[in-house]
Amino acid sequence: MRDKNRRLIDVVLPLPIERGLTYALSPAAATPPRGGRVLVQVGPRNMIGIAWGSTHLHPSCEIKEVIKVIDETPFISETLLKFFTWMSSYYFYPIGKVIEEALPPGFLSSRSKRIAKIAGSRSGCSRSPEFSAWKDDVEIELNGEQVAALEYIEAVISRRSYSPVLLHGVTGSGKTEVYLRAAQRCLAQGRGVLFMVPEIAMTTQTVGRFVSRFGGDVAVLHSGLTEWERRDQWLRIKGGKGRIVIGTRSAIFAPMDNLGLAVVDEEHDTSYKQEDRFRYNARDLAVLRASMSGAVVILGSATPSIASYNKALAGRYHLITMKKRVKDRPMPEVAIIDRRKKTVKAGSDRPDKKNPGWLTDELKEAIGETIGRGEQVLLFLNRRGFATFVFCPDCGYVFKCPRCDVSLTWHRAVAASDKTGPAAACGRGSMPDGSLVCHYCGSLSPAMPLCPNCGGHAVKASGYGTERLISDLAGLFPGARLARLDRDMIRRRKDAEGVLMDFQEGRIDVLVGTQMVTKGHDFPRLTLVGMIWADLSLNFPDYQAAEHTFQLIAQVAGRAGRGARPGRVLIQTLMPDHYALECAASHDYQRFYEKEVILRKKMCYPPFSRLINFRFSGKNKEIMEKTVSSLADVARKIIPAHLGLKADIFGPSPAPRAKIKDKLRWQMLLRSERMSDLRVLCAELLLKSDGLVPRGVTVEVDVDPVNLL
Ligand code: ADP
Ligand code: ZN
Repeated sequence: MRDKNRRLIDVVLPLPIERGLTYALSPAAATPPRGGRVLVQVGPRNMIGIAWGSTHLHPSCEIKEVIKVIDETPFISETLLKFFTWMSSYYFYPIGKVIEEALPPGFLSSRSKRIAKIAGSRSGCSRSPEFSAWKDDVEIELNGEQVAALEYIEAVISRRSYSPVLLHGVTGSGKTEVYLRAAQRCLAQGRGVLFMVPEIAMTTQTVGRFVSRFGGDVAVLHSGLTEWERRDQWLRIKGGKGRIVIGTRSAIFAPMDNLGLAVVDEEHDTSYKQEDRFRYNARDLAVLRASMSGAVVILGSATPSIASYNKALAGRYHLITMKKRVKDRPMPEVAIIDRRKKTVKAGSDRPDKKNPGWLTDELKEAIGETIGRGEQVLLFLNRRGFATFVFCPDCGYVFKCPRCDVSLTWHRAVAASDKTGPAAACGRGSMPDGSLVCHYCGSLSPAMPLCPNCGGHAVKASGYGTERLISDLAGLFPGARLARLDRDMIRRRKDAEGVLMDFQEGRIDVLVGTQMVTKGHDFPRLTLVGMIWADLSLNFPDYQAAEHTFQLIAQVAGRAGRGARPGRVLIQTLMPDHYALECAASHDYQRFYEKEVILRKKMCYPPFSRLINFRFSGKNKEIMEKTVSSLADVARKIIPAHLGLKADIFGPSPAPRAKIKDKLRWQMLLRSERMSDLRVLCAELLLKSDGLVPRGVTVEVDVDPVNLL
């Protein structure tokens, strides 16, 4: 076995280790290509890994032999390997785990039954998972702004070099049409297109337009597919068959080797950021991937992120602006309604069927008028359930999740019998029906009429959720056809598509929804949008609270008046003077940007600095506190030890969501004006923290964090 001429290779495995492990090849085995899969033994198990190339190490210890060479040609191309390596280093995430995350489940499986099945099979079928082809109008004549945008994009596509573009176009300005034509040009050049959307359930309309225009060239990648479908799509793309890849954030890993154009639609959307395991941002990676492939990348939005707009103004992205809606349709008229008056008038949360506390007279009248004209209403509230706060007025007891640091939400329609839908939600009922749900961990318990603390009978529920809105509306507007669109109602993509189709075709008068309704869709008969509580997200302890609120309002408002009839938007708020609301109401992105960057600069927040967040979780309070403080000590010593290294350390402190599923959450935020300084600090901290983190504590590194809760 100790033959000096043995061929040795490094194999990267889906394990939390920095580099590959060395294996030997038996004399009879073919040399696996770099990027090909091999079956090897790790400890007592067999695992599939990626051959990383030959190595010349001659360690003295026993080296195991590769059990089986699975691929004769690279399974992962050199371009992708480079991309993955870069990600691993940038996000401080082990390369093998990056690859595990990037490949559809199963390709690197460590379960032996699966290994046999997948390693042995070759995909035969190559059909796109069905997508209803939404009506697509190929005959559209582009307007002036669209022509100008497309001219620039086509010019850079034919240059075949990296060109980043920020397309800032108001809602309904016809951005999708520009993407479609740019995609066409890119395909004609023989290069591939990657089109990314924030969330598949709400973007079936856009996806449908691509499918109906490009048919068999389209491949889709998103988490709603079955494992088998995902592998199949992946192999199709790798085989050069799906030249247009459409998908959510994980589509950034698509195995296309000839990328010519990447589009990130709604680039401001935070769902491009993955918030567990491998915390990457697919929008940022799209720009990187385009730069590695000499491709054009278009970041498109009506409300660009402060980060991207800042880069555009600094000249790092080419800025294209589309100021007008297609066919000169007006932007909707937006009015801000001061809800403080209402709160005073209503006095308490006493359920008054004709005058619910969440509804102002202005909005109530507008809803009546709109449905009276046979037009449609969309009401937005980012809270699910019936009541968001359940308590006992006798002793002050608040119903909280025993595992999380949060009060429970009463869901009337989520009963043990699981009768969901407006009918169930509208039925009369007192506290005993439905369930108490934890929105952090999802745990359910039956709603109860008695206080567990004092035995009182007067348990009350207050605060409004989407379910409550539907129930009140049914009383206020008898005969109106109501529907709800939120995560309780929608379990699958098809469900959402069904509701949206009903709304689009006029079978629903009033649609009540959460975040889900803000994205993408065109509803020609929708003329009134009401935001029930616009400042809900303004009070989050997060430096991006104003940005996210502005984007949310502008996007929800942007759903109105996209058809022939003009639209109106009513925004109920307790903070009518806040600049985020004022700017959204006057459709003034520029002014919002200018106000916001002044504050960011003053506070030295991104884009004027960079952040890396260390997240800790664990069950034991003492162990947690000891661990975070020892790591903070180490971090604070690193900075002065490096000449010229400038960085600040905030915390460690409990996260705003201090406990989820019985796990305590702490964080420590590193900040610097230079990413390079931050990286030095982070790398050294990770190196030195080895041995300081006990078993019960998990540490995650979040580079460029989006969610700081
Ligand atoms: P955005 O993505 O900017 O919100 P879309 O591209 O979805 O806007 O366009 C909104 C609607 O207008 C779509 O139904 C689209 O077919 C239509 N449309 C796009 N461009 C034109 C045009 N030049 N003339 C007429 N209708 C158009
Ligand atoms: Zn919980």
